[in-house]
Amino acid sequence: MRFRLLAETFARLENTSARLEMVDILAALLSKASPDNIDKIVYLLQGRVAAPYTGIELGIGEKLAIQSISNAFGVDVGQVERLYKELGDLGFVAEKLAANKKQATLFSRPLDVDRVYGNFYRIATASGKGSQELKVRLLTDLLNDAEPIEARYIVRIPLGRLRLGVGDATILEALAIAVTGTREFKEKLERAYNLCSDLGYVAKVLYKEGPPAIENFKVVVGIPLRPALAQRASSAEEIISRLGTCAAEAKYDGFRCQIHKKGDKVWIFSRRLENMTEMFPELIKGTLEQFDAEEAIFEGEAIAYNEETGEFYPFQMTMQRKRKYGINEAVEEYPLKLFAFDLMYVDGADYTQKPYKTRRAELERRVKKGDVFAVSELRIVSTVKELEAFFESCVERGLEGIIAKDLKAPYIAGARKWAWIKLKRSYKGELSDTLDVVIVGYYKGRGKRSRFGLGGILVAVYDPKDDCFRTVAKVGTGFTEEQLVEMKKLLDEIRVPRRPARVVSLLEPDVWVEPKYVITVAADEITRSPNHTAGWDGERGYALRFPRIVGWIRSDKGPEDATTVDEVIQMYEQQKTVSTGDGDG
Ligand code: ATP
Repeated sequence: MRFRLLAETFARLENTSARLEMVDILAALLSKASPDNIDKIVYLLQGRVAAPYTGIELGIGEKLAIQSISNAFGVDVGQVERLYKELGDLGFVAEKLAANKKQATLFSRPLDVDRVYGNFYRIATASGKGSQELKVRLLTDLLNDAEPIEARYIVRIPLGRLRLGVGDATILEALAIAVTGTREFKEKLERAYNLCSDLGYVAKVLYKEGPPAIENFKVVVGIPLRPALAQRASSAEEIISRLGTCAAEAKYDGFRCQIHKKGDKVWIFSRRLENMTEMFPELIKGTLEQFDAEEAIFEGEAIAYNEETGEFYPFQMTMQRKRKYGINEAVEEYPLKLFAFDLMYVDGADYTQKPYKTRRAELERRVKKGDVFAVSELRIVSTVKELEAFFESCVERGLEGIIAKDLKAPYIAGARKWAWIKLKRSYKGELSDTLDVVIVGYYKGRGKRSRFGLGGILVAVYDPKDDCFRTVAKVGTGFTEEQLVEMKKLLDEIRVPRRPARVVSLLEPDVWVEPKYVITVAADEITRSPNHTAGWDGERGYALRFPRIVGWIRSDKGPEDATTVDEVIQMYEQQKTVSTGDGDG
């Protein structure tokens, strides 16, 4: 496929403000793809060259892009920089220079998707001595043969500035339409995607082997599943009335690890499915020594602990372990313990469809006694009293609360279902849980705040049904001055000229940004509001009362991992029942 077709599609996607139109534009493109290039096209649409779990990230700095543009179009670096100042986007600079050059050259080799992808892949994987020069050469090579519109995207993609705002769910929908002619097949594609988290791979299987292969899709060791997620409850009563007799597990406040093992090879993936294997040597050792299987996929929560006292460190200290450098020192200072809580695959058997009870029993058999691994603490409870007692004992010991699990439920990858229900400690006068919201724009601020250039942010929750973001609050408090400055800087890097197609909003912030950053907010209450579009019923949506920032940008969550509209509605319903009693947290 000619790259030009892709570039033209990008341009059309940029100009649409309706999601359904986006789906049609994408489906038209994908229907022209072949089994050999469909995965590449899907990755390029996401501005990537491989699935996130591979750790292969395409990224170059502005300096390299400027150098490549200068080489390709024979203009000096100073002039490229001047044009950049004038046009504000290196993609436009390359486009303009390519248009000037076009009249002058007669010979160029038209670009196809394979060649563009190939060069990008080499850019992403180049390392060590001479890699900077190689990257410049590879980008220059593409720009040499690029038509103006192609040049725009050849520069934007490796700079990480594609910003088309197409979500995974939108791509899955377009794939379903492109191959089967209807949206119905999207559900099957979603299941496969949940089992492997690799859109390009799912698309390839679909194009190469056809729909039946998607229906029979199985987990693969080495490719992470999208994690099962928990619903929230506001009381023990609610949990018992939903689940009856259930498993209650201690909820550890660390980070989630999905561990894969094949012989002596181990992979460790984060909640966002990034490969973090290198960061945790003690967990690799733990897997090899304490997990009794040739091949396995299992999950647990890793938490730093004090070897001397045997106590857990607070979350901030555990977070110290997410680092690329100084790993050995960090292992010494903050060693991790892993509490295994689920099993998805072991020695040839896919466990995702088996009930919790069976998975847990097998997990307990496989985790051997030792220093690093243990299974999560568990009580089978049948009454509110038993559940409350266990919850209290967890909270007293500094744990976050409990997660109750349906004994009969399978492992539901990539979805937030009532098979898992979290109950956390709560504080009086606050919602029982915080929300993770997506920043979609900011306000410049008046008075004192105006000197930071940012006075507040407009935030949204995710609506998986329509694959869009719906606003719930304007947040202006909870920021330190440093955070205001830092936030302004981060948001300016992702500003967009108009409301992104997947953002549904009645409010108009001073600056729109690409939905990218997720941040944690607390609030006193959820109210109905005519200003916000989350849960919109034609007259009112839901909004946060007295929202405030309580954390910083969550690097472990992407925009589609934010709190959903349905969760907001549930929290609204739950607060009504809690406020009549005194709560139990
Ligand atoms: P979520 O992961 O549900 O989007 P979150 O990242 O904000 O939300 P919490 O709301 O605190 O996290 O709770 C869910 C998380 O609790 C899980 O993703 C997992 O990392 C962690 N966890 C701790 N202990 C357990 C356990 N025993 N079983 C399952 N998850 C656990």
